[in-house]
Amino acid sequence: MKKVAIIGGGFAGSKIAKSLENDFDVTLIDTKDYFEFTPSILSAITDPACLEDIQIMHTHYLKKAKVIIGRAEKISGNEVFVGKRKIKFDYLAISSGSKYSFPFKEHDALITSRANRLRNHYEDLHNSKNVLIIGGGLSGVELAAEIATKCHDKKITIVHAMDRLIERQPEKASEYAKRFLEKKGVKIIFNELIKGNRKVRSKENFFTDRGKKIESDIAFLCVGITPNSDFIRKSFPKLVDKKGYASTDESLNLKGFRNIFVGGDVTDIKEEKTAQNSIEHAKVIASNIINLERGKPLNKYVHKERAMILSLGRHRGILTYKNFVIAGIIPSMIKRHIQNKEMGSLKG
Ligand SMILES: Cc1cc2nc3c(=O)[nH]c(=O)nc-3n(C[C@H](O)[C@H](O)[C@H](O)COP(=O)(O)OP(=O)(O)OC[C@H]3O[C@@H](n4cnc5c(N)ncnc54)[C@H](O)[C@@H]3O)c2cc1C
Repeated sequence: MKKVAIIGGGFAGSKIAKSLENDFDVTLIDTKDYFEFTPSILSAITDPACLEDIQIMHTHYLKKAKVIIGRAEKISGNEVFVGKRKIKFDYLAISSGSKYSFPFKEHDALITSRANRLRNHYEDLHNSKNVLIIGGGLSGVELAAEIATKCHDKKITIVHAMDRLIERQPEKASEYAKRFLEKKGVKIIFNELIKGNRKVRSKENFFTDRGKKIESDIAFLCVGITPNSDFIRKSFPKLVDKKGYASTDESLNLKGFRNIFVGGDVTDIKEEKTAQNSIEHAKVIASNIINLERGKPLNKYVHKERAMILSLGRHRGILTYKNFVIAGIIPSMIKRHIQNKEMGSLKG
C-alpha cells in the first residue's frame, strides 16, 4: 500500500485521513491527540460542559490510520521529521492550520489537559467583572454574545479598530450584531486600537491609542491569525510568503511538488479562512491522491462564495450569503445542526 502522511488533524487533515485510510497506509501527525470543532469553542468557553460534544480523539474516529502525536519540524520530498523520527511518504498532505490565542485554540495539548485549562479559564471568567474583547470581527462578536447571554453580571467592552463590527460581512449584519450586543449592555468602542503588546489575560487596565482607559479583569485577543508553517519555511523557504502562507497551486499541490498537497488555513488561497473551505480543500486533496494513483488528471479547487453563520448566544444568529442576510433563531439552529452533523460524521 502507498504511504500517505498528513500533518495536522484539524478540519482538513481529519477529513483526508478518514477518506483515505481504507485504501492507503495513512499516518496522521498532530501536536494534539484530538479533533476539536473550533466554531463551537466560544460556547465551551462560557460552558465547559459543552466541550465533550465538540471533541473527539483521533484514535476514536480513525479505524486504520496510524496516529503520531508530535510536531512536524521539517519535510523533504519523501519524509517528515518529527523529533528523532522520520516518516516516509509517497504522498503528503499539509494541513497544519493556524494559531489563534488561548483559549480559542491550543496546539500542544492532550484532550484532558485542554479540558482542565478551559475549566480553569472558565473560573477566571466567572470571577471577573470587567471583560475586554479586543477585536470586533467574527470571533470577537460571537464571544461577546456568548458571555453577555450567559453571564449577566459582566461589564463587557469591545474595542474594534474599524468603524463597524464584522466589517467583511454586509452592513445589515453589522447593524444587527451591534443592536443585539448593545441591547445586552455591551459597550463598543469603534476606530480605536488597544496600545502595546500586553499579555492579554493580565489583570490590569488597558489604554486605547486615543488615551481611553479600559478596566479589565480578563481580556480576550480576537484579532489576527498566524499560519502554522515554520516547518515548511525551514524546509522550502521560497514556498512560504511574508505572512506565513504556503504557496499552493490550483490542484492544491505545494508549488513544484506533485506528491505534496496543502489544504486549510495554511494555504495562500485568497479566501476567508474557514472550516467550510478547509473541508472543501480536503475533498479535492483526497480525490487528487486517488487520481494520481489511477493515472487520472488532477481536479482543480475552485473557490465558491459560501454562507457564513455567526451565532449570538444559544438562540440567535446571523446567516450571510453574498449580500443576503437572515438574522434570528434559524441561523443558530442551522449552526447547531452543522456541528452535530460534522461531529456525527466523525463519530460514525
Ligand atoms: C473562535 C473561532 C471561531 C470560528 N468559527 C468558524 C465558523 O463559524 N465557521 C467556519 O467555517 N470557520 C470558523 N472558524 C475557522 C476554522 O476554525 C478554521 O478555518 C479551521 O479550523 C481550519 O482548519 P484546518 O484544518 O486548516 O486547521 P486547524 O483546525 O487549525 O488544525 C490544524 C491542526 O494541525 C496541528 N499542527 C499545527 N502545526 C503542526 C505541526 N508542525 N505538526 C503537527 N501538527 C501540527 C494543530 O495542532 C491542529 O490540530 C473559527 C475559528 C475560530 C478560532
